[in-house]
Amino acid sequence: MTPSLPVLRLAALRDRLPPEYDALLVAGPENRRYLSGFTARDDSLTESCGLLLFTREKAFLLTDFRYQEWARQEAPDLEVLVYTQSLGATLAGVLQDQEVRSLGFEATYLSYRQYQRLNQAVGETGLQVDWQPLEGTVEGLRQTKTPAEVAAMRRALALTEEVLGEVVQDLTPGKTEAQVAWEIERRLREKGAEGLAFPPIVAGGPNSARPHHQPGDYRLQTGEPIIIDLGARVAGYCADLTRTFILGAADEQFRKIYHLVRQAQERAEKELRAGMDSQAADALGREVIAAAGYGEAFGHSLGHGLGLAVHEAPSLSPHKDRATTLRAGNVFTVEPGIYLTGWGGVRLEDMVLLHEDRAEVLTKVGFYEW
Ligand code: ZN
Ligand code: ZN
Repeated sequence: MTPSLPVLRLAALRDRLPPEYDALLVAGPENRRYLSGFTARDDSLTESCGLLLFTREKAFLLTDFRYQEWARQEAPDLEVLVYTQSLGATLAGVLQDQEVRSLGFEATYLSYRQYQRLNQAVGETGLQVDWQPLEGTVEGLRQTKTPAEVAAMRRALALTEEVLGEVVQDLTPGKTEAQVAWEIERRLREKGAEGLAFPPIVAGGPNSARPHHQPGDYRLQTGEPIIIDLGARVAGYCADLTRTFILGAADEQFRKIYHLVRQAQERAEKELRAGMDSQAADALGREVIAAAGYGEAFGHSLGHGLGLAVHEAPSLSPHKDRATTLRAGNVFTVEPGIYLTGWGGVRLEDMVLLHEDRAEVLTKVGFYEW
């Protein structure tokens, strides 16, 4: 019998867990889904559909009454433990049974309060457990996609592109950003997206100088840049796409900025290779923009990995602390931008799949020639 996907992933995870750890406690929602197959999504930071605990031999999903049937159905490879009294008491029991003395936990996802509560509950049983913060253990696995994951992202992207095409057809002066954002949301859902990868960004005129603007009452006008950034979620996987538009004739300033951003993107897409350091990858686009004197106006990373989360490893960042090596099978965005306060901005965002010798641009929708 072929091992199931969670079983294969668990084996890979155990290889990555440093030998001094007896077990890993997983609190990240996407990590939980990736390792167990349990698709429930947490609505907020303070709500959890469950935690995973992996020892060297066993895998547990700790959840409550509301999720027990769903969890058992979707995660048959894990032992589902339903806590009635408290998560801490149940966790303490498993740690004791499994003789866990050194426990890695996800520092990025376990809140300080949750950590305190669990630590206290375990301590009250008289068990001596050494809690060790870990980062990136599961995320490192998620960084390299399987063909099935890439296929889900291609579907999400195709749907996203279709919706962008339709929405742009209907773009007229006088419409508010919020109206356009709602059209995006509605069409994505009607075409079969299970949800949004993130709330759409529609930023008109000076608002387009804010890379993550929240659409509001601003009315789109001719002669001003309009940034539209959207993404569908399909089978859990995210798409992410940005194009910049202008209604009416493009002036000299818009054309200049637009072409520069496109040039930076083209260069990066052409020269990206597996094995490249993420800082070097970021520099491919950043150098083009900086050489033209707009370095200060490009204040975010060149791109980010995406998958079950819309922002995940690898980060194509200029900062050393986030440096990583890009590998074949990584899917990430290439999204240079230039933002000028008072005028607006231009961002162009594609998704690429990295192969050993090239980056395949997954985004098929083209570019307007202004
Ligand atoms: Zn985006
Ligand atoms: Zn993005």
